[in-house]
Amino acid sequence: MLTKVPDALRDHFGHRLRVEEPLAMHTSFRIGGPSDLFISARTREDLLNAVVLARSAGIPWLVLGRGSNVLVDDRGIRGLVIRNDTPQLTIDAETGRVQAASGVRMPTLGVQTARMGLTGLEWCVGIPGSVGGGVVMNAGAHGGCIADALISAEVLADGTPMIWPAETFQHSYRMSRLQSEREIVVLGAEFRTQHGIAGEALGRIRTFRQHRQDTQPTDPGAGSIFRNPPGESAGALIDQAGLKGTRRGDALISPKHGNFIVNVGHASSSDVLALIELAREAVFQQFGIILHPEVELIGPIGRRKLAEGNE
Ligand SMILES: Cc1cc2nc3c(=O)[nH]c(=O)nc-3n(C[C@H](O)[C@H](O)[C@H](O)COP(=O)(O)OP(=O)(O)OC[C@H]3O[C@@H](n4cnc5c(N)ncnc54)[C@H](O)[C@@H]3O)c2cc1C
Repeated sequence: MLTKVPDALRDHFGHRLRVEEPLAMHTSFRIGGPSDLFISARTREDLLNAVVLARSAGIPWLVLGRGSNVLVDDRGIRGLVIRNDTPQLTIDAETGRVQAASGVRMPTLGVQTARMGLTGLEWCVGIPGSVGGGVVMNAGAHGGCIADALISAEVLADGTPMIWPAETFQHSYRMSRLQSEREIVVLGAEFRTQHGIAGEALGRIRTFRQHRQDTQPTDPGAGSIFRNPPGESAGALIDQAGLKGTRRGDALISPKHGNFIVNVGHASSSDVLALIELAREAVFQQFGIILHPEVELIGPIGRRKLAEGNE
């Protein structure tokens, strides 16, 4: 735990700066111990100031989007967690260009553009993350992904906000360079869409939502736990290894989808980690295939395990 709250952060954010905030409240897994300090950034300036002040105070910091791709350790996180709640969204109906703050929810992006008869972002509806998290993860579904629609994004790198063209992010399947360059923060992004018919776009959204309802569990989780290995489905491999329905504590490999681990009560981060390790081990033993986590392990478990997961 931090011995002292840095004065500059306390002076700037006042009572909005929270101490020992339980992160389970801010992750889709509903798992995670406290962060020493926590701030909800509601504007681009909040986000910039929080990062700059944490950097100059020399404390660790982390930007959290919707917390939908993370497993946070029950022992919590040292330093400052900056929850990105920046909501600004501007859609130009004529050009089809969309300017989104990095805290905008992906489903909002999909629905708002579809309603205006703009197509190309309908696939966003099933992804419960933020635009910033989407750029980091190159989130995607139903044949679309961030890299297909991204024109550019504003980032904070080296302390200065700047615009990066899409190709700078080196996106590939669920990957971007930001996953290894943690000090870079996405502030906002610009997307292209195409002119289409609102009714048809909204119809596609209904189909995507129905597909998810039919194939994915609704208990708290973090979506796909593993990346699909080339030419394979991680869920099918876990299913063939006979692991669907396996439980550790209150963590369960979903009987509905092998690549989903869900929290069916009060699962701990180590319950989930035990299932992650079990699935990796079983799939490696039976098929000789190494599964790489898509979900990010944060806190002490991340330091211990993520490196292995990425070998
Ligand atoms: C039910 C469910 C279904 C899902 N389905 C899909 C799917 O179909 N396809 C898919 O791709 N994913 C899916 N996911 C996973 C997840 O929603 C995506 O990976 C999403 O992009 C994560 O966004 P987030 O805002 O929640 O990121 P977080 O989980 O908050 O953060 C993920 C990482 O990005 C970093 N980060 C977040 N915001 C920023 C920022 N502004 N600047 C710099 N770094 C940042 C964080 O520090 C962290 O390292 C699903 C998750 C759930 C729970």
